[in-house]
Amino acid sequence: MSGLGNDLRQVVRGRVLMPGEDGFEYASTPWNLAVRQQVSAVVEIADAADAAALVRFAAAAELPLSTRATGHSPSAAADGTVLVTTGALDGIEIDAAARVAKVQAGAAWQPVLEQAAAHGLAAACGSSAVVGVTGYTLGGGVGWFARSRGYASDAVRALEVVTADGDQRRVTADSDPDLFWALRGGGGDFALVTGLEFELFDAPELFGGRLLWPAERTEAVIAAFHRATAEAEEGLSLWLTLIQFPPFPELPEFLRGQSMVAIDVVALGAVTAPLRWFDGIPGAVLDTRRPLNAAEVGGVCMEPTDPSPARVRAELLTEFSPEVSDALLAAAAPQGSVGPLALVQVRHLGGALARPAADAGCAGSIAEPYLLSLLGPAPTPEFEAAVAGRAAEVAGAMRPYLSGRKPFTYLDSGETPDVVFDTATLARLREIKDRRDPDGLFRSNYPVAPALGEADPTRVEAPATV
Ligand SMILES: Cc1cc2nc3c(=O)[nH]c(=O)nc-3n(C[C@H](O)[C@H](O)[C@H](O)COP(=O)(O)OP(=O)(O)OC[C@H]3O[C@@H](n4cnc5c(N)ncnc54)[C@H](O)[C@@H]3O)c2cc1C
Repeated sequence: MSGLGNDLRQVVRGRVLMPGEDGFEYASTPWNLAVRQQVSAVVEIADAADAAALVRFAAAAELPLSTRATGHSPSAAADGTVLVTTGALDGIEIDAAARVAKVQAGAAWQPVLEQAAAHGLAAACGSSAVVGVTGYTLGGGVGWFARSRGYASDAVRALEVVTADGDQRRVTADSDPDLFWALRGGGGDFALVTGLEFELFDAPELFGGRLLWPAERTEAVIAAFHRATAEAEEGLSLWLTLIQFPPFPELPEFLRGQSMVAIDVVALGAVTAPLRWFDGIPGAVLDTRRPLNAAEVGGVCMEPTDPSPARVRAELLTEFSPEVSDALLAAAAPQGSVGPLALVQVRHLGGALARPAADAGCAGSIAEPYLLSLLGPAPTPEFEAAVAGRAAEVAGAMRPYLSGRKPFTYLDSGETPDVVFDTATLARLREIKDRRDPDGLFRSNYPVAPALGEADPTRVEAPATV
């Protein structure tokens, strides 16, 4: 047994896995299989006290730590670190009277949504309920209710953390304003989080689902999406997705290998009038729209729940111009397929997300009204290069309408927070990092400090068209 493995086993009660040992490969592999992380050990912490013991040991031994909940957003920044996994910290408590969820760091959204929904309450989850609450919220979190309620991180009231000095602390706006600000949007660079407390909200009249047409309706659906989002109230969230379904046998035959266009919708309240723009478009092969239970929002987009290799390129759009419509249409030309991409998605933002909240964290607000994401399967370097190249072509055609910014949770391996934050915000984050973690003990997937955010060997560059 290695010296490091021995030492770690003296320090924590959770399982320790070293390279070469049974289970190490599985435990060190993230959900996104396109990113390989060469970590020096995996420690499955048992509880918050375990986390504190590990942080004290790592600080003394000068071992950097990276943290993972579900592994949806891995990057090579974890290379050489001891990877802390939080899967055992999956406790969830709902205080229905106070409309607050108290969630341990390893919880994923689905069980939180289910327990909240049992009290008639909803939470700020995104498109996939297998994503972890902690990583999503530390990065801001742009979900179904962002137009009505802002970032998920705006709902956070307290965080239980272990700081770089090994202390267990409860961080609130009053107890530690700097850390509270940095942790709400700045990612995993500032502390090891063991739990979160955030506000829930009533969702008595929730409606949603997916409308799906064959790709020949793409032009009509893009035009209707433009009209519908132009008049949507804040309770109505509409996402447009051009989809190339894979030829997998487990898919229903009508989807297998097909090129399609989808409108996904979640409506909070009586705000569905703009959906009439889609009524006249014939030939829908699926319409799952219906009144929803708040636990069901994570299933609207039917995203894959099993680990898979993928690369994503995200861009914030300054407007939905005719050129953006044309570029979307061209993305699916000539046969309707967006391949080698699997998805070309435009999410309507705006509303509360565009208004800086008085007590907002560093995530701030997003002025841009639409978010573009271009995602494709990346099982090999060849696929990866093809996905990056096609994404660059599609984004290149929209170039005058890209702001150059992106939300933290939409960074891909190799990108840095420079494209997320303005200069003043980034400077404040770096100052807090320097002061609170001067030895760089905590290593985020997207570090705010430049020395840690450099070259990522897993990144495949796209041809330089943008
Ligand atoms: C299928 C899919 C759908 C998605 N949908 C959305 C969406 O709708 N909206 C959106 O905004 N994002 C979305 N995302 C992005 C998602 O929010 C990020 O990938 C997020 O980081 C996932 O968090 P995680 O905890 O699951 O991932 P992980 O990879 O486990 O964690 C991500 C990072 O968070 C930090 N972190 C995690 N736990 C801790 C902790 N306990 N202490 C300190 N730092 C920690 C670490 O830096 C870690 O590297 C989606 C991603 C996928 C793959």
